[in-house]
Amino acid sequence: MRQNAQSQTAAKTPLTGQVTVDLSAISDNVRAFRKRSKAPHFMAVVKGNAYGHGLIEVASTAVEAGADWLGTAQLSEAVALRKAGITVPVLSWLYLASQTSAAIREALEYDVDLSLGSVGQLEVLTGIARQLGRPAAVHLELDSGLSRGGARVEDWPGLVARARQAELDGTLRVRGVWTHLAWADVPAHPGNAAAVADFEAAVEVARVAGLRPELRHVCSSANILERPGFHFDMVRAGLAIYGLAPAGHLDPADFGLRPALSVTAPLVMVKKVPAGTGVSYEHQAITYEPRFLGLIPLGYADGIPKGISGRSVVRIGNRQVPVIGKVCMDQFMVDLGPDVGEIAVGDTAVLFGDPGSGAASADEWGAAIGSHGDEIINRIAPRLPRVYESDVHECPDYQEPLIERSGHAV
Ligand SMILES: *Cc1c(COP(=O)(O)O)cnc(C)c1O
Repeated sequence: MRQNAQSQTAAKTPLTGQVTVDLSAISDNVRAFRKRSKAPHFMAVVKGNAYGHGLIEVASTAVEAGADWLGTAQLSEAVALRKAGITVPVLSWLYLASQTSAAIREALEYDVDLSLGSVGQLEVLTGIARQLGRPAAVHLELDSGLSRGGARVEDWPGLVARARQAELDGTLRVRGVWTHLAWADVPAHPGNAAAVADFEAAVEVARVAGLRPELRHVCSSANILERPGFHFDMVRAGLAIYGLAPAGHLDPADFGLRPALSVTAPLVMVKKVPAGTGVSYEHQAITYEPRFLGLIPLGYADGIPKGISGRSVVRIGNRQVPVIGKVCMDQFMVDLGPDVGEIAVGDTAVLFGDPGSGAASADEWGAAIGSHGDEIINRIAPRLPRVYESDVHECPDYQEPLIERSGHAV
């Protein structure tokens, strides 16, 4: 008991850094991005704990700012939205279809729309719907080339015919038809036009079979920006609402978007070392002159990629200082140069955040390790406390928040 209490206290007063999420950036991004869409409906994608930003906080903010749908991969996140009191329609697209699935049953009870991409899934959903005594609301998914979820073109007519039967016997309601593009991040790729042609043909097959889906949806962030012809009735926005680059060639700032998430940590030690000093495991960095080193209490246990060493900087005050030496599990070192200047223990280091503030962006960190900003933010460990901020003055049509959001750590 006692030990438990102690460890809880310890967890509440972390030595390490924190994740700060600026909810007004989410709100501004949703408003700005929604204007770029011609579709009447706008889904904010909040899978993966809202790309590591915090599921409920982001979802509530996005809904206030005008998102009228929410999307998650996992059912548990969709149900969590409902349990938090969020009532807008939610689509969830990843589950194990089993007749005894408590998760599917709960999702249907909580009015979560499910993606449906095979007759096998259909039999399970309609079976559970029959027990519940009400139809399962579904969005039929076409596999237009991603080879992930969804029915292949050749299996589509069979799925559609079975779905129509299930509608007639009251166990299914086909609310949408959708696909996710294999070239989601390469809008100009000809594969997209071919996939959308297959999608339109599939919609027609569904219509001829007697289905009347209200919502056709195809686009994620990059195609929302560059392929207005693919918007249909709804778009599904992820990266853009978090202020991350939707694709390598698209700078969020050009579209009025800014990153919402930043990671900061206190500088816990500053020391002067002579020329020829090896830094961190295996001395992969060696000083060629007397230098000052700084110690940051975050490491790969917090999601800091090992590959970042020597390839990125952190901001301390108005200086950008390189990460050097191997990243350790809980800590890494930065090179403060031959002259430490004003920098002192206790200063805040900004690892990445809004480039408008002089920090590196998560996209830059992603590029430095041969990946993308979404991988950087998604791997930030849950053990880092999330602090939510909202500058109400930046949102002209600000309304009462659904959640408490004044700088509280959760
Ligand atoms: C993740 C995802 C999105 C959002 O993609 P972004 O590129 O982050 O905008 C949309 N639809 C589906 C099915 C997804 O899995």
